[in-house]
Amino acid sequence: MPTPLIAGNWKMNGSRSLVESFGQALGDAALPSQLDVALMVPFPYLDAAARALSGSRATLGAQTLSDQASGAYTGEVSGEMLRELGASLVLVGHSERRTLFNEDDAAVLVRVQRALDVGLRPILCLGETLAERDAERSEAVVLGQLDAVLNGLEPDQRQQLVIAYEPVWAIGTGRTASPEQAQAMHAAIRRRLASHAEALAAATPLLYGGSMKADNAAELLAQPDIDGGLIGGASLKIDDFLAICQSA
Ligand code: PGA
Repeated sequence: MPTPLIAGNWKMNGSRSLVESFGQALGDAALPSQLDVALMVPFPYLDAAARALSGSRATLGAQTLSDQASGAYTGEVSGEMLRELGASLVLVGHSERRTLFNEDDAAVLVRVQRALDVGLRPILCLGETLAERDAERSEAVVLGQLDAVLNGLEPDQRQQLVIAYEPVWAIGTGRTASPEQAQAMHAAIRRRLASHAEALAAATPLLYGGSMKADNAAELLAQPDIDGGLIGGASLKIDDFLAICQSA
């Protein structure tokens, strides 16, 4: 079974002082021994976060990366730069990127490849909208997003992926998927990974994201195919984030 991973996605929130308080609190916290913790902070805080988290077990991640390696792309940030600032993980294909920044499956695949090229571990986010769930297309949509990446990678690259199932209707809405709904999708994702290789299915961490909080985390994390969480809103409050870590 993969080591559980609790990753906080700050989105476009936080501050330098929040970075510092998290570094302190995570350094002091007695976390479960079998747990990986990560914080995905905005680009400008990566450097400070690398220093703040250095006394803790938490690793550092970014929330996206450019689809280009370097060059005349004003405003973009490359995977290489993220590595240099101490990130080891990067979110790719978050639903906010897919919808607000028009990143389609092809754009997601290129970013996964860019991340892998520089040794960043991608957290590939998948999820259906409410309309797609109501139309009973959830599994087709999510597995389609997954296939678009798996089919573009070599077997050894697939082993680097972390996958996060985040139903769009549950993100930031306070409406969490039920443990049964989440487990059913995670099992479908696991089966699709197994169709490539059993070892891939066994080793890939599958995170749930979408209004995971201190009071529902334990029930979600108890599901057999939920290996961790990608936490948005509740990752901005240290007590809530630590409580979720404790329930993993
Ligand atoms: P949420 O966000 O926990 O605030 O729903 C999760 C995410 O978007 O990663």
